Amino acid sequence: MVKRDYYEVLGVEKTASKDEIKKVYRKLAKKYHPDMNKDNPKEAEEKFKEISEAYGVLSDDTKRRQYDMYGHAGIEGRYSREDIFRTINFEDIFGDMGFGFGGFEGIFDTFFGGARTRRRGPIKGNNLFQDLEISLEEAAFGTKKTIKVPRIEWCDQCNGTGAKPGTSPKKCASCQGTGQIRDVRSSGFGQFVRITPCRYCNGSGEKIEHPCTNCRGGGKVRRYRKISVDVPRGVDTGNRIRLPGEGEAGNNGGPSGDLFVVIYVKPHDTFHREGNHIIYDVEITFAQAALGDEIEVPTLKSKAKLKIPKGTQTHTTFRLKGEGIPDVHGRGKGDEFVRVIVKTPTRLSERQKQLLLELEGQDKDSKGKKRRFF
Ligand SMILES: [Zn+2]
Ligand SMILES: [Zn+2]
Repeated sequence: MVKRDYYEVLGVEKTASKDEIKKVYRKLAKKYHPDMNKDNPKEAEEKFKEISEAYGVLSDDTKRRQYDMYGHAGIEGRYSREDIFRTINFEDIFGDMGFGFGGFEGIFDTFFGGARTRRRGPIKGNNLFQDLEISLEEAAFGTKKTIKVPRIEWCDQCNGTGAKPGTSPKKCASCQGTGQIRDVRSSGFGQFVRITPCRYCNGSGEKIEHPCTNCRGGGKVRRYRKISVDVPRGVDTGNRIRLPGEGEAGNNGGPSGDLFVVIYVKPHDTFHREGNHIIYDVEITFAQAALGDEIEVPTLKSKAKLKIPKGTQTHTTFRLKGEGIPDVHGRGKGDEFVRVIVKTPTRLSERQKQLLLELEGQDKDSKGKKRRFF
């Protein structure tokens, strides 16, 4: 299913303020609240999830900026729907409407089927995002870089158990090793069974009596890890390179998350990039433009000769085929466009002035009307 634009989902302008977005969301949330749609609860729920996801992103400055810059690609992989829902203050949205979901926990249980009860199963580690700044040449031809990534890894002293080597964790007495505490409560429109992680063992079901000194019993340590990244040729700002398993360590035996290296291509002193094409501006003299010439221009690789035909007008663009940036998906290569700017002389000697005046006179005679060069 194609994901709809978040602004479109809420029916607001791209420039809408936070207050406007909130107002619209409140209205829609009320409309699609499952309690108001008893005939069609499944459809309403889908709709409710869609608008809530849009609101969760657009009401958060950071997420909104990422979405504005990169679209859905800026959000997916970075935040789960759960993360997005978590930022919404549902009490604030529904508080004065006389109904709710029993706060975030209620919403959560309603929409994620009591995902909290799954807390003890294997959970994949967090994905990490690391920016990488490269030059235009590196982007064009590809490069190999080593980056330093701060990440959470398993403690190698205790193999992640958190218990001092030679000892082992004991069953938590508070939750009898289940890691969960059940709590039944009623709210305005129903009864909720809230299952929360045991706060004595943080949901692990185990209690460590002799913690490992290296990780202080957490089983994980934060360290800087050097990781080498192959940057393929043709990348552009905003492209992400995924390194599977190089993110943070998982929980309860879950796999590690992924590392996403986000490319930022620095502006170039000489060239201006446009997609896979590059643009180079070169100044030529009036004489070169009028009489023609052969000039040397820089390319990404080295240099190239460029013929300026006589009678060239200022801002004429010449194409050097294939001198641009290779397509990142291997579909051909961009070109280099050389734009010539005819420079008008500002300081003239007496002799130069005389020559130009003569030229001006001849031009007038031949065309029969006055045309000014300068
Ligand atoms: Zn416990
Ligand atoms: Zn340890």
